[in-house]
Amino acid sequence: MRPYILAEANWKHIHDQPIDLVILPWGATEAHNYHLPYATDVIEADTIAAESARLAWEQGAKVMVLPTIPFGVNTGQTDILLDINLYPSTQKAILNDIIEVLNRQGIHKLLILNSHGGNDFKTMLRELGVQYPNMFLSTCSWFNTLDKSKYFDEPKGDHADEMETSLLLHLRPDLVLPLDEAGDGAAKKWKVQALREGWAWAERKWSQVTEDTGIGNPKQATAEKGKRYFEDVTQKLSGFLLELANLDVKALYE
Ligand SMILES: [Zn+2]
Repeated sequence: MRPYILAEANWKHIHDQPIDLVILPWGATEAHNYHLPYATDVIEADTIAAESARLAWEQGAKVMVLPTIPFGVNTGQTDILLDINLYPSTQKAILNDIIEVLNRQGIHKLLILNSHGGNDFKTMLRELGVQYPNMFLSTCSWFNTLDKSKYFDEPKGDHADEMETSLLLHLRPDLVLPLDEAGDGAAKKWKVQALREGWAWAERKWSQVTEDTGIGNPKQATAEKGKRYFEDVTQKLSGFLLELANLDVKALYE
């Protein structure tokens, strides 16, 4: 039993355990090219949260990881088989209920560890922060913690790409098909210049952008690349968790 993983902990061990920071990992259930499992984002969320929390715990941080929410926002993939969509308004309702429990029980810091590009919690946390003024609410997407180009030969993708494939080859090689069965993850470009250049935004219509549901070529992925990236992501995140856990929310700035 890891005492910082709620799903494994029992009430006997934790009922008087101090908890400064709760971590809520949030994934998605969706197709990942031909070769990665639907739970890719959930597996990444589970493992990255647990390892980051372990490293922080060993440095004295009183953290607790909640079970990963397995469904995310998949509004751009309505026609892709069994991509399970949670609307942002549903996510906010879930968040409200979790925050209400934490707030009532005097656990005043929450980090949402996001594992899926379609999830966007910032506006929700702004709104919930007004409703729960004693809560310190934060969010971070683990895939933005490091410069991918230092780890991968094809760093441009963002879905079932070399990075995600390498991670899964490291974490769950039993669930990855041979890479010659993967599509090339080629993504079409927007016709509209501002969208193409990225300074304007519209949601991607997934099945128009890519043939195989992937965005980014996975072919050069290896377990070694995944291991190195996983270790550095969790190391960096653990420092963040430690800082958050120890943060005095009445004195946030210097
Ligand atoms: Zn993913």
